Amino acid sequence: MRITIVSDVHSNLAALEAVLRHAGEAGALDGVWCLGDIVGYGPQPRQVLARLADVGARAVGGNHDFAAVGKISTDDFNPDAATAAEWTARQLGPDERARVESLPEVIEDDTFTMVHGTLRSPVWEYLYSYEAAAAHLERQKSPFGLVGHTHVPMLVVEGQEFPNGCEMYYLEDGRSFELPAERRLVVNPGGVGQPRDGDPRASYAVYDGEAAMITLHRVEYDIAATQRLMEEAGLPRWLIDRLAIGR
Ligand code: ZN
Repeated sequence: MRITIVSDVHSNLAALEAVLRHAGEAGALDGVWCLGDIVGYGPQPRQVLARLADVGARAVGGNHDFAAVGKISTDDFNPDAATAAEWTARQLGPDERARVESLPEVIEDDTFTMVHGTLRSPVWEYLYSYEAAAAHLERQKSPFGLVGHTHVPMLVVEGQEFPNGCEMYYLEDGRSFELPAERRLVVNPGGVGQPRDGDPRASYAVYDGEAAMITLHRVEYDIAATQRLMEEAGLPRWLIDRLAIGR
């Protein structure tokens, strides 16, 4: 079983298609898991929702998903994000709204816990600091956690030998690691539709169930095509520009 793990697709269909093509060639489409922020920022919310439904994605909701359907307020969003959330809300039909509204905040099984932010604050908190990582791990019952929200690929390894109780590692393209039996981990696959680590390529991960391994991948996509659609939609300039620089 090989699973494709995506997060923060943000209505960027070109990026999602590039990832699914790449994952398909690697035989990793036995399942797709999505860690939230399916919509928001980008120009194709309906198409991205349909494509993820197509591949039977198992998904949790993120702050941008719930903001687009009015489940949470955009008061804490920056002005560009709020503008994009309002634009996204106008695009969604009743079925799409219902689908987004019903996304769970957390999915847990015996092996993995999926959440957009952290288990302390599922929709909002960034798992960036040791303090947030420790608070998350305290609440994680399964051996492995999967989070998104930061748009930066990262591995958190729990261990008493680390001064903060865990260590954090940036994951570069092609990096593979084994899922250990004796330690708990948290993995962030990075952002598909709006990477923020200075690398504009779409970021995602593959979980190989037989080998018990996860591998991080970066994939080029047609950034200009997404930018053109954003211009046509009248989305904020900075949201268009940032895709080219991966910030
Ligand atoms: Zn996001």
